[in-house]
Amino acid sequence: MSSVPDAFLANSDVSSVCDLSQRAGWQRELAQAVRSGEELLRRLGLNPDDPQTQQMLQIAGIQLADQDTLRRFPVLVPENFLSRITPGDLHDPLLRQVLPLAQESLVVEGFVPDAVGDLDARRTPGMLQKYAGRVLLIATSACAIHCRYCFRRDYPYAEEPRRLQDWQPALDEIAADSSVTEVIFSGGDPLMLNDARLQTLCSAIDQIPHVERIRFHTRLPIVLPSRVTAELIALLTGIRAQAIMVVHANHGNELAGDCLHALRTLVQSGIPVLNQAVLLAGVNDNLDALETLCRRLINLGVMPYYLHQLDRVSGTAHFEANRELGLHLIQQLAARLPGYAIPRFVQEIPGQPNKTAL
Ligand SMILES: *Cc1c(COP(=O)(O)O)cnc(C)c1O
Ligand code: SF4
Repeated sequence: MSSVPDAFLANSDVSSVCDLSQRAGWQRELAQAVRSGEELLRRLGLNPDDPQTQQMLQIAGIQLADQDTLRRFPVLVPENFLSRITPGDLHDPLLRQVLPLAQESLVVEGFVPDAVGDLDARRTPGMLQKYAGRVLLIATSACAIHCRYCFRRDYPYAEEPRRLQDWQPALDEIAADSSVTEVIFSGGDPLMLNDARLQTLCSAIDQIPHVERIRFHTRLPIVLPSRVTAELIALLTGIRAQAIMVVHANHGNELAGDCLHALRTLVQSGIPVLNQAVLLAGVNDNLDALETLCRRLINLGVMPYYLHQLDRVSGTAHFEANRELGLHLIQQLAARLPGYAIPRFVQEIPGQPNKTAL
């Protein structure tokens, strides 16, 4: 059995506020992230109080989300991601991923809080298992960005472990079940844990001999590239188990600026890097967008893994693209790019033994 190292307990609360000067660069950047829809528009050169902007918003069909929606799922956009959005363009595919819209409070038939059956898959606090051989840890509730289409936007994170001692039941369960060969760090975003906490949790899992791989599902290398530090690479390459990174970019414009360097650094460290994207109306539901995304990924050495059909989570209906359109796009994509550049178009259907290929 893995035991609980004291170091983790001394500094255990993920949300604890520490002295700003003690924080790593990426944490300081995060503290300065944009946290409201109005501020987001202002930073893109659009003053929401200006009648001309109001007219533009009206023409584009944009009404910002109400306060109740925003309290439950606030706006969060780091500066670095913001810098890849074209000022003044209300149709910018990156802006569309983070701009909170009034549609989020619509009740749409078929769209429910837990569309993917996460709660039924909870095996211990913080640990989900849906598929043979791999378990998924809700390593933290925090993210560096709030994607408005997020399938875990209603996840009851408050009930999940924060201190390492709270992880003991999950660690014991993994240690006692030799069929578990892969542990997926998810969340939230597992790279929101600082290096000390990440190292402690990774080491505890790495000590379990039958765990062959530790996978990280993270959007930080894309949205907050400064998180990819030499220390992080040392941590990831220092574990006994094979580390695998699955990043999350939906549009080619995300693959620009510092993000390129972060992805190259990961790839050059020898860690396999895969990408998962979500098919999103108004963001990437066209052939050129998907082609550019996949081409830029493979040019960086990042393999397109999955293109997900949107999970039907409450508040995200306006992001849903037609499944037939998705199939059609994937077929056309295959006629344009090498075979290895084509992600598998999948949907998560609760109760199935794997993500379902469409
Ligand atoms: C998606 C998912 C996985 C990973 O599935 P792969 O097909 O191995 O990428 C694992 N566990 C849960 C609970 C998931 O939702
Ligand atoms: S980074 Fe992932 S978990 Fe976080 S809001 Fe975006 S989609 Fe959801």
